[in-house]
Amino acid sequence: MAAPYSSPLAQALSEDLLARFLRYVQVQTQSKPDRERSPSTPGQLELGRLLAAELEAIGLADAELDEHGYVYATLPATVADAPVIGLIAHLDTSPDAPGAGVAPIVHRDYQAGVIELPRAGTRLDPETMPRLRGMVGHDIVTASGDTLLGADDKAGVAAIMAAVAHLAAHPELPRPTLRIAFTPDEEIGHGATLFDIPRFGARCAYTLDGSRRGELQDESFSAIEVRIDVAGVGVHPGTAKGKLVSALMVAAEIVAGLPKDRLTPATTSGREGFIHPTMLEGGTERAHLRLIVRDFDEQLLAGHVALLREITDRVSAANPAARVELQEIRQYRNMRAYIEHDQDVIAAAVEAYAAEGLEPIREPIRGGTDGSRLSEMGLPTPNIFDGGHEYHSLREFASLQDMACAAAVVVRLAEAWTRR
Ligand SMILES: [Zn+2]
Repeated sequence: MAAPYSSPLAQALSEDLLARFLRYVQVQTQSKPDRERSPSTPGQLELGRLLAAELEAIGLADAELDEHGYVYATLPATVADAPVIGLIAHLDTSPDAPGAGVAPIVHRDYQAGVIELPRAGTRLDPETMPRLRGMVGHDIVTASGDTLLGADDKAGVAAIMAAVAHLAAHPELPRPTLRIAFTPDEEIGHGATLFDIPRFGARCAYTLDGSRRGELQDESFSAIEVRIDVAGVGVHPGTAKGKLVSALMVAAEIVAGLPKDRLTPATTSGREGFIHPTMLEGGTERAHLRLIVRDFDEQLLAGHVALLREITDRVSAANPAARVELQEIRQYRNMRAYIEHDQDVIAAAVEAYAAEGLEPIREPIRGGTDGSRLSEMGLPTPNIFDGGHEYHSLREFASLQDMACAAAVVVRLAEAWTRR
């Protein structure tokens, strides 16, 4: 059976894409929370240097890695008067699973069934991973079982690189000026922080950042982080009667007060939001609780935060000797508000998908991308799929055919913009 490519173009892009992808995933680029500089880890600079050099080799003479770890480059237009369009993917991988020493494996021509990885007993089982069932005949790339793969977002990086290399080698294909950016520290919420939008100079941009073939996303969560700091009263436990107030107990009481049968990640899907404690640490004197609050709707989001305040106030009132402080930090907003008034951004993508035989799947992202903040900062940036799955886990995998399809969509997208 012929491998299920979306088009001869996708097939033509696939081997170059695979070689690049395997190269990129072997560079350790996990980002680190609470960063002191940009990028948060030196491996991201290593991949940035590699990509700048590869872009230059393709013929993008201005390719450069800036002092904050962002890679920028320009592929000049082959037609006059088309708007400048941006392509963006992130360099870093998640700190949530082991990410050093990625040893990728290509499982050619997948024939259904369980994929057993050689290390740590990791298995990809179509019983629990239904997306695998649709991939018979695909070439599946995994890590070796003891690390994540890093398809998030090196599948996006490789798809952009393969598409740009193809366009650079084919000046007869119509294209606008393409601005390319690879960003650091997306996984810790900083991909857009030091992004130079004026210098990027694009009318709009597209991230390639997950997941299944056909997804086209112009909606993300709106996101707030809540930090609750508790100061207790420490006394020697042997003589503490009537005096000691444990900060840890107070923080735990707040966690225990959260709804359990609704408003949690494990009980919500689709357009439902949640409150999710991500970290609790402390002792008698001090305790620190972090939570993320998410919704697609700003009013509902504010309601979830109000509920969290109510619970916190109640616990605080019951423990008057403890000092409880709650701080809200806005992380990003649903990008739809910034994209929907700009019809061409999605229309051009829909045209590009159609040229690859794809009907766009328009489901909102239950998370954020660089595009969430970039859109708010003035650069409308929806998300295109990149063929990776099971992100931030040892089971992470990518379909070569789907990654190649994403690269082909980028080539079609370039052409679509020359007609606008
Ligand atoms: Zn990502």
